[in-house]
Amino acid sequence: MRFSQLLLPTLKEDPAEAETISHKLLLRGGFIRKLTAGVYSYLPLGLATIRKVEQIVRAEMSRAGAQEVLLPMVQPADLWRESGRWEKYGPELLRFKDRHGRESCLGPTHEEVITDLARMNIHSYRSLPLNLYQIQTKFRDEIRPRFGLMRGREFIMKDGYSFDADEAGADATYRKMYEAYQQIFTRCGIAFRAVEADTGAIGGSFSHEFMVLAATGEDLVVICQHCEYAANLERATARPEKAANHDTPQPSSQVATPGQKTVQEVGKFLHIPAEFLVKTMIYLADGQPVAVLMRGDHEVQPVKLRNLLGVLEVVLADDQEIASLTGAPAGYLGPVGLKIPLVIDAVVAQMVNFVTGANEVDQHLLNVNPGRDFTPQHQGDIRMVNEDDLCPHCGGKLAITRGIEVGHIFKLGTEYSQALSATFLDQHGQKRPFIMGCYGIGISRTVAAAIEQNHDRDGMIFPMPIAPFQVILLSLTPKDPKTRVEAERLYHQLQEHGIEVLLDDRDERPGSKFKDADLVGIPIRLMVGKRFKNEGLLEIRTRTDGQVSAAAPVAALAMIREMVESALRSPLKN
Ligand code: ATP
Ligand code: MG
Repeated sequence: MRFSQLLLPTLKEDPAEAETISHKLLLRGGFIRKLTAGVYSYLPLGLATIRKVEQIVRAEMSRAGAQEVLLPMVQPADLWRESGRWEKYGPELLRFKDRHGRESCLGPTHEEVITDLARMNIHSYRSLPLNLYQIQTKFRDEIRPRFGLMRGREFIMKDGYSFDADEAGADATYRKMYEAYQQIFTRCGIAFRAVEADTGAIGGSFSHEFMVLAATGEDLVVICQHCEYAANLERATARPEKAANHDTPQPSSQVATPGQKTVQEVGKFLHIPAEFLVKTMIYLADGQPVAVLMRGDHEVQPVKLRNLLGVLEVVLADDQEIASLTGAPAGYLGPVGLKIPLVIDAVVAQMVNFVTGANEVDQHLLNVNPGRDFTPQHQGDIRMVNEDDLCPHCGGKLAITRGIEVGHIFKLGTEYSQALSATFLDQHGQKRPFIMGCYGIGISRTVAAAIEQNHDRDGMIFPMPIAPFQVILLSLTPKDPKTRVEAERLYHQLQEHGIEVLLDDRDERPGSKFKDADLVGIPIRLMVGKRFKNEGLLEIRTRTDGQVSAAAPVAALAMIREMVESALRSPLKN
């Protein structure tokens, strides 16, 4: 491709509307243009990058035995009513009526459509397992579309769905997809971690998110600094610490703690560290009150609490609600004598002789013990992991970092097949629901994430496998016939060797060609200019480290071929 003919409207300044690096650079580099909130046009370089990611996804999906289909974007409301999601999905689902008044929506995801396809067309265990995927434009009416391709309303997703006859088969398919995802993001040349993700309360299901590690990520990810363990914050667990106090239970007694309400105040007043204190918080779980007990220096992870209780929503009660539910003011609550269900964190369950509120103003209890002094109704890990907690697998230190979710795999089980009565006949002629999995990749978001992770002050730095072009060839003195002819010759020669090259043949100063080349992040810059005219040498500059080397044309071509090939060579086992 020739720069002079390419639609590549680069900008000198950062557009005011863009907050994140990838958004700024994609606009400045002429990769995308906004049509309306969260809706973008992909210009040639943007689309070329997207296609690179898609190609890798297609190759790995096909290697893993998945088949490509293309499903409709417009979906009938009745199908969504069958799954129950027409009511549940909320305003992210864009709904409308056609000319006959039939309710429809734009597909934000395709579980319903694919399950319908399966129930109509797969009838026997002999057709299983089956794994189908598509690459398609999705629409989600996001409440806050932002950061360009990172969170659009219209965006490109690869979504895949698997159908298996039994649990073991579904688990094997899941593992295959997990491995395919590892291959995909490794081949894209970006640093990522697969993290254990929350699955809500669906039994028998599990899930991983694939996170590109980048400081600007919206998600918090807990990673072990020593082993592979990684989980998102909603799900992460830590190795249980030994209870700070392991004495035998002592008789409990009440102490006056005038005006001391917070863990810090009470601890200081009684000269007791926070890990010997237990705080009691009142939550409304789907509207029903529960008292939640946590060690003084720990915090509740609301998603874990929700899952333990099997509810959709947990909210902290306000002071008035607390007073009317417990008869005691916040700050002096405790489990002893409380008349609402008690939920205790697994750590609290191990503690002995701790301090709690006495459910009376200015009073606390010493030497409280679970079992003896109160009986919890629910018990489990509901705490938020902290930086420096210990890894549940290896005991190494945990760290909390930021990530961008680019992929998500989920073992669904029979949730959708049951709702839509999608069944097959097994070997014994028994009707059974399909066991399903779903597997998504944000294709357009992956491009944004790659830029968030790989850029410098001059622009984007694409990993070779997803760069829009592999080489940008700068003709720096196009008025000089010798260099102009050489640039043309190189342009054709590189193409003959299968190298994707963009020839900057514009009548521009070298400085502005350098700037644009850096901005669009093409990995190799090949320059034909004065040094060629005087010494017969070309210059090769790598975008990642700015290293420049000079070589005669034959050697330069060999170098470039080697650079491209080694960057594309699969880093993975086959
Ligand atoms: P998020 O929590 O970021 O909203 P999600 O959990 O809603 O993501 P999924 O339903 O699992 O996402 O969709 C699969 C993939 O599609 C995600 O991993 C992400 O990469 C991508 N994706 C989801 N929403 C958007 C969006 N609004 N814009 C761009 N990509 C998106
Ligand atoms: Mg979402």
